[in-house]
Amino acid sequence: MLHSLRAFIAAHRDDMSAFLAELIALDTENPPGRSYETCLDQIARKLEELGLASEVLPVPGGDADPNHPRYWLRSRWGGSGPSLYFHGHVDVVPANGENQFEPRITEDTVFGRGSTDMKGGLVSMIYAMKALEETGAALDGGIELRIVPDEETGGRLGSRALSDAGLLFDKEALGMLTAEPTGGIVWHASRGAITGNVVLEGRKSHVGLQYRGINAFEKAIPVLNALRELKADVETRETDFPLEPEEARHSILLMGGEVTGGANFNVVPDYFVFSVDRRINPEEDFEEEKRRLVSTVEAAGARFEIHQEAHPASVSADHPVAQALSRSVEEVSGSRPSLELCPGILEIRFYAERGVPALAYGPGLLTVAHGPSEFVKRKDLESCALVYAMAAQSLLS
Ligand SMILES: [Zn+2]
Repeated sequence: MLHSLRAFIAAHRDDMSAFLAELIALDTENPPGRSYETCLDQIARKLEELGLASEVLPVPGGDADPNHPRYWLRSRWGGSGPSLYFHGHVDVVPANGENQFEPRITEDTVFGRGSTDMKGGLVSMIYAMKALEETGAALDGGIELRIVPDEETGGRLGSRALSDAGLLFDKEALGMLTAEPTGGIVWHASRGAITGNVVLEGRKSHVGLQYRGINAFEKAIPVLNALRELKADVETRETDFPLEPEEARHSILLMGGEVTGGANFNVVPDYFVFSVDRRINPEEDFEEEKRRLVSTVEAAGARFEIHQEAHPASVSADHPVAQALSRSVEEVSGSRPSLELCPGILEIRFYAERGVPALAYGPGLLTVAHGPSEFVKRKDLESCALVYAMAAQSLLS
């Protein structure tokens, strides 16, 4: 089986890169969430060309911004019975370099925004489905492809809305694989996040009349001190999940990533806002950590406006889905991958919260994913397609 799948994928090397280039050129920047329908329609046309049926549908409640409506795509291939979900996102982070929506293909690399995060992964998943069909794989079940918007902004009008509407997956879901760039390893766990802004208000006044004002910036001092104490405590905790280097295992509280406030050097600032990003290890209790963070900020006299909440997620390394994925990576690459905690958050959480084992494995490197010269190696697109096909074959037969 490995041999014929490999031959099919090798024969489609150029098609895969060309299709990826087409997708990169369709600018799906998020925010604001551009061209979702256009890009998903393009994917649907490709699926049709490959003989795979699909539907592009509006996300429930996804028309809140009429200029940027949210759409998603679903496709199924295989027989009846339990399904393995291939899950990916169509949005990309905003451009931060030159010509990022002008893809470039060289002998061994595809360059462009989204090449690794994660239009490249989508291409690998689609060609995995096609490879299984072409090589006559008979599966006791099916592969469900899910391509969603809004992953890069927390999934509220993507996976969150679809899961709440019961559309993301059904009760026959056997497991889920997502194609985030994992650089050859498998992520079987992800951190949670509570992200928000600490808001302090004051009263504006000219410097000469500063006694009439209330300084919002100075009001932040007790809040910062309290948060620094909390941070010191948070950082004593370490996850037991494998993660390299060792410093990366500590729980996280980042403050001041974004800061705004004040109008001018000679005016008492009437507002001061700074961000707090709390990243929670899988062993920590989400609700308890949220309560602690909010009460620390409030007790020091400020307001905390939360704009992202994501629960941590994990699946045991011994779970059959994790084992099947690891074995497939080993068969394709020759070595067993390590299973690690993802340093960021992953959409595996939407599946894990309803008991569906979910893991990430995909082409490319996290370190180039949101950067100015994003790229993916063409051999990684091919080997990931092969891994997805092998994993599906092993789980569904
Ligand atoms: Zn991604």
